[in-house]
Amino acid sequence: MSAQAIFNRLALIGAGLIGSSIARAARAQGAVRSIVVTARSAATRRRVAELGIADQVVETNAAAVEGADLVILCVPVGACGEVAAEISSHLAPGAIVSDVGSVKGAVVKDMAPHLPASAHFVPAHPVAGTEHSGPDSGFAELFINRWCILTPPEGTDPDAVERLRAFWAALGAKVETMTPDHHDLVLAITSHLPHLIAYTIVGTADELGQVTSSEVMKFSAGGFRDFTRIAASDPTMWRDVFLANKEAVLEMLGTFNEDLSKLTRAIRRGDGEALFEHFTRTRAIRRGIVEIGQDSAAPDFGRPHAHLAKKPG
Ligand code: NAP
Repeated sequence: MSAQAIFNRLALIGAGLIGSSIARAARAQGAVRSIVVTARSAATRRRVAELGIADQVVETNAAAVEGADLVILCVPVGACGEVAAEISSHLAPGAIVSDVGSVKGAVVKDMAPHLPASAHFVPAHPVAGTEHSGPDSGFAELFINRWCILTPPEGTDPDAVERLRAFWAALGAKVETMTPDHHDLVLAITSHLPHLIAYTIVGTADELGQVTSSEVMKFSAGGFRDFTRIAASDPTMWRDVFLANKEAVLEMLGTFNEDLSKLTRAIRRGDGEALFEHFTRTRAIRRGIVEIGQDSAAPDFGRPHAHLAKKPG
């Protein structure tokens, strides 16, 4: 038991990359007194028990939330509504209910109607992740120096928001609050669109007749390698993200297509000045990201945990 515990009993529904990382980090930091975990399949529940990252592993979502003062749904965005419906009548009065979904507007819409007035709903998105899934892929350091965005609905008890903020801060995250719609717009351009581009380009390379697959593998250090890593991300999670954040992604995709057309035109016309100007501007953006500490200027290759700690979801 830790003197600094912020919550008494943490219930995690879903024990993949994010759920199992929260379990490991919360325990490492003494942020909660006990952790109960559940997952959809018996195989995952068994693995969580073997890994010893929870105090208790239970079979159902309803059983997990009994007596918990913090409940975090760590399941794909598309499953959040049905899980909220399952747990609603089993929540302890005053429990804080949160999630980690990469889309917020749709999750709020799906979950909120099911939750009782006695619970405090504080949605969250830790902007930290990797392309790996499952309970073995998690690690306690995942959230350190990463952002966690809270999107509490208007009128949410400020004490509940503050306790969840303190929880994420204890796990090492920097915490910011915004509206669900603003979150979805920001993440559409910073995360969702880059994933869509990676999924596209890897598929395109695969279909190219002229370049054999062995050449794609052999020369993949030239930028393509980073795309293949992102395109290895979990298909269920990313299907749900694009279905749930349709409007914001389509808006960003429209702007992206216009910009791509401008670059296409510059290449076709041999307009080196336009290309140079564009690349100079984007280089300055990259330097700004490094300056504010969101990435390192060191090459990826050989960085410890480089394959694990780079891609936010
Ligand atoms: P993951 O590794 O695939 O794990 C998903 C977990 O959810 C699994 O334990 C799965 O159980 C469980 N699950 C699925 N449906 C369920 C249901 N109806 N009831 C109970 N458990 C259920 O996924 P993840 O990467 O941790 O992602 C989880 C959430 O975090 C998603 O909403 C995603 O948008 C968000 N997120 C992901 C990242 C990232 O980079 N991966 C970053 C930030 C946020 P089984 O193993 O038994 O199938």
